[in-house]
Amino acid sequence: MSELYKLGIAEAREGLEKGDFTSEDIVRSVIGRYREKNADIGAYVTFDEEGALELARANLKAVPIAVKDLINVRGQPCTCGSKILEGYVSPYDATVISNMKANGFIPCGRVNMDEFAMGSSTENSALAVTRNPYDLTRVPGGSSGGSAAAVGGDMCIAALGTDTGGSIRQPASFCNCVGIKPSYGRVSRYGVTAFASSLDQVGPMTKSVRDSAILLKALAGHDRMDGTTPDEPVPDYERVIEGATMKGVKIGLPKEYFNVSGLDSEVKRITDEAVAKCVAAGAEIREVSLPHTEYAMAVYYIIAPAEASANLARFDGVRYGHRSDKSVDVYSLYTKSRAEGFGPEVKRRIIMGTYVLSSGYYDAYYGRAQKVRTLIKRDFDEVFRDVDVLLTPCAPTPAFKLGELQDPLTMYLNDLYTIPSALAGVCAASVPAGFTAGTNLPVGVQFICGGFEESRLLSVCKSFEEINS
Ligand code: GLN
Repeated sequence: MSELYKLGIAEAREGLEKGDFTSEDIVRSVIGRYREKNADIGAYVTFDEEGALELARANLKAVPIAVKDLINVRGQPCTCGSKILEGYVSPYDATVISNMKANGFIPCGRVNMDEFAMGSSTENSALAVTRNPYDLTRVPGGSSGGSAAAVGGDMCIAALGTDTGGSIRQPASFCNCVGIKPSYGRVSRYGVTAFASSLDQVGPMTKSVRDSAILLKALAGHDRMDGTTPDEPVPDYERVIEGATMKGVKIGLPKEYFNVSGLDSEVKRITDEAVAKCVAAGAEIREVSLPHTEYAMAVYYIIAPAEASANLARFDGVRYGHRSDKSVDVYSLYTKSRAEGFGPEVKRRIIMGTYVLSSGYYDAYYGRAQKVRTLIKRDFDEVFRDVDVLLTPCAPTPAFKLGELQDPLTMYLNDLYTIPSALAGVCAASVPAGFTAGTNLPVGVQFICGGFEESRLLSVCKSFEEINS
């Protein structure tokens, strides 16, 4: 009973149904674990213990879920890992939060992230340091590093993350969790602080594939407050994955993802072994090509900062959060509040984004990047005519040391494998695959399916989880 924090969603639900324990028992257990571990791991930035207990008492059979600090939960702080939003309290629930509440989940604690989701290690958070639960000298990945550390360190039952260019999948790989980046439009972003609006998606980070299926079903669907969400029915993913098999699944291995100089030899070994296990379980393997892969990084670092520079214009010292007390007029109110409130990576992105959108450079950078993005998307359309799913490494290395990557470009390269599929808007997942020799660090593999093919994606992940256990 005291170790309820170890449960996943499916087990928690079963116990709640049987009456073995209540939602309040789970929340108390998570709080106990939080008090014991947060000083070391730093997964949470705030934890409204009373609020969580109150929700649990009102929803006896609800499963508590940790929430990334950029998703609005009414009455709770929403700081996005930034000083500029210090003291901001959300006036409303994001659609994913109301969907969760309507489907037997409650928000429980807020987890750390890179400032405005820009980063791959959570070191860009202005609020706290988050450590990898598998090795406290290493990063949890990012930007959903708090979510991954909370799941991987058994500090929650499951968590919500967001993924713009890899921020669910890469930390999931570093912290031994399952992470799903849904297709663009599958999940509403209403009430989720925008980073790059043509890429952002919310998704589950969980202890098992089944848990991701259950949580994704609760999150997904049409929302009139987010015009990118089509009125497509949401399959019962939990039922869909029952009896999933690798037999006859056509798996593509994109050759551009394997001949990469920065690919760590242990990650390569674990990925190769994952392929071998799929073959032994009856999958068919084909080498495929995504010829425009080499341009994805450049395209992303034009489009994402361009959109970020527009989205972050709203943080002006007037409407939200921090306001400089050194201003003398309205112009200096904006500039000083922003100069004091934003951290260095966010400023770098705003400057890059403003530059590529400025007149004279727009066509050369932003316009051209949009065209190349279309070519990248076509690569995926093309390849999914021949195969059901792609299998690739998720990140080029296992978790690196805190402070190890100082140069922004080296940090950006972490998302090599996750950015192309984000640009294409398809769905993708990271699933635990193994541990490195010697350092014993978790490594995930990535599966990628076509747009709105979450049923297929989750089935492949489920069957991989089974053959890999
Ligand atoms: N690491 C990438 C970036 O910094 C992706 C972040 C994300 O997916 N939110 O932009």
